[in-house]
Amino acid sequence: MEKHYLCDNKKAKKVLKTLGWIFFPIGAFLLILSLVDFFLSGFPSFPALPFIALPLIFLGIVSLMFGYMKEVNKYVANETAPVAADVTNYMLDETRDEVQKTVSGIASSISQKEIICPSCGIVNEKGAIFCDHCGKPLVKICPKCQEENDFDSTYCRKCGERLD
Ligand SMILES: [Zn+2]
Ligand SMILES: [Zn+2]
Repeated sequence: MEKHYLCDNKKAKKVLKTLGWIFFPIGAFLLILSLVDFFLSGFPSFPALPFIALPLIFLGIVSLMFGYMKEVNKYVANETAPVAADVTNYMLDETRDEVQKTVSGIASSISQKEIICPSCGIVNEKGAIFCDHCGKPLVKICPKCQEENDFDSTYCRKCGERLD
């Protein structure tokens, strides 16, 4: 997984750098050309030139920024916060499955809600087996396979044994 990301990062970075080094010089060249043209003739013979040049320069700068910023971010991420790596990956649309994992993680942590004691009604934290107020069991242990089932289960979710 890690290897895969690094590989993709390298590829994307290379593409961005290449694009940057194509767009930026062309844009700069066209801009200079339009300025020279303007100053020499006193009137731009290609009035559209700056409108082509400026976006090219902008694209070039942005591409270069992302191309090289990633290097820095990756370094920083490796050194300090894994969050930065996540943000970087997210920005590059490379974390689709990472995001999915996070979302499903959140979903499962929501579904793994606190357990309300059926005997006394006290809320126990998730994963509790016995009520910390009255000591009554909060789960049904399967007599056949020892699987912990929800208190209101009739059959074991693991082996299908009838409970109670
Ligand atoms: Zn209780
Ligand atoms: Zn069972």
